[in-house]
Amino acid sequence: MGVVRIKENLAFPKVVLIDTVSYCNLRCSMCSHKDMKRKKGIMEWSLFKKIIDEVSRNDKSTRVWMVFFGEALIIKRTKPSIFDMLSYAKRAGLKEVVLNTNGVLLDRESSEKLIDAGLDGIFIGIDAFCEETYEKIRCGGDYRRVVQNVLDLIDVKQKKGADKFNIRVQFVEMEENRRERDAFTQYWLSKGVDVKIRQKLSWAGLSGEAAGGSWDKRHECYWIMDTMSITDTGDVAICAADPEARFVAGNLARQSIREIWNGKLKEVRELHKKREWEKLPYPCSQCGDWEVSYKDRMIRARRKGVIRGRIKRYLSRFTYLAD
Ligand code: SF4
Repeated sequence: MGVVRIKENLAFPKVVLIDTVSYCNLRCSMCSHKDMKRKKGIMEWSLFKKIIDEVSRNDKSTRVWMVFFGEALIIKRTKPSIFDMLSYAKRAGLKEVVLNTNGVLLDRESSEKLIDAGLDGIFIGIDAFCEETYEKIRCGGDYRRVVQNVLDLIDVKQKKGADKFNIRVQFVEMEENRRERDAFTQYWLSKGVDVKIRQKLSWAGLSGEAAGGSWDKRHECYWIMDTMSITDTGDVAICAADPEARFVAGNLARQSIREIWNGKLKEVRELHKKREWEKLPYPCSQCGDWEVSYKDRMIRARRKGVIRGRIKRYLSRFTYLAD
């Protein structure tokens, strides 16, 4: 790992994760959601609006994820639906609203609605380049259907001319799929979408397989310094990688984002910053995922539109020659 710059203690989170829904339709091998004890539910519309309104008042460039630990497309037909939530967030002026999904429920109609609602980016977890491996990892999913759904999404994006809408496929690297990583990457790059490679998480120690960098090289966790994670009931979890929300720093039904961010969460950020590991609360105290947080790798596809745009901008400098 290279040199890591100490992060500043921000006055408002740069990233907010919202558990619009905490149910999931799969039982993936590397995800601890299947063992989640926390009561599952769908976020109340009034609470959702309160959160979005506060983000909008404070910092419209805060990146808002419409997911913390659930599958957002489960609420594609509820009232309000995930599309209503997205539209609300975009109408509030938020610049970067994104979501991740396992892609199983991402039919053509949903793709159109996501783009129409103004979604800025989507991350689709696939983790395999063959059906057999996929079935071992993404238990309950359907590889062919997911691949077709992503290809349809690319087609919808092109037909709507939604050039700024980012499609990213995700590959969590592990023993079972490692040999497929490069083929996966090449295939999806050739389709014009970005590829995100992530290391397997221990879910803040829950799975018992913490990546665990050496203790004396430990540094502040990327997630704690930037991110606020909110459950469907408004509890603010200390950790973006903890599905159980074992350490709750406050509740947004009663408090504001600023209050919690600059209260309990700030105390924990200070401990990370000062490297006082022995004083950290659980689960940070026993977690190796802080290292994974720095290892995400995004491999960007070459986009014809972007290149064409750059060439056009370059040539526009010389338009006087043709005048
Ligand atoms: S150190 Fe671990 S428990 Fe603490 S915020 Fe980071 S990932 Fe979560």
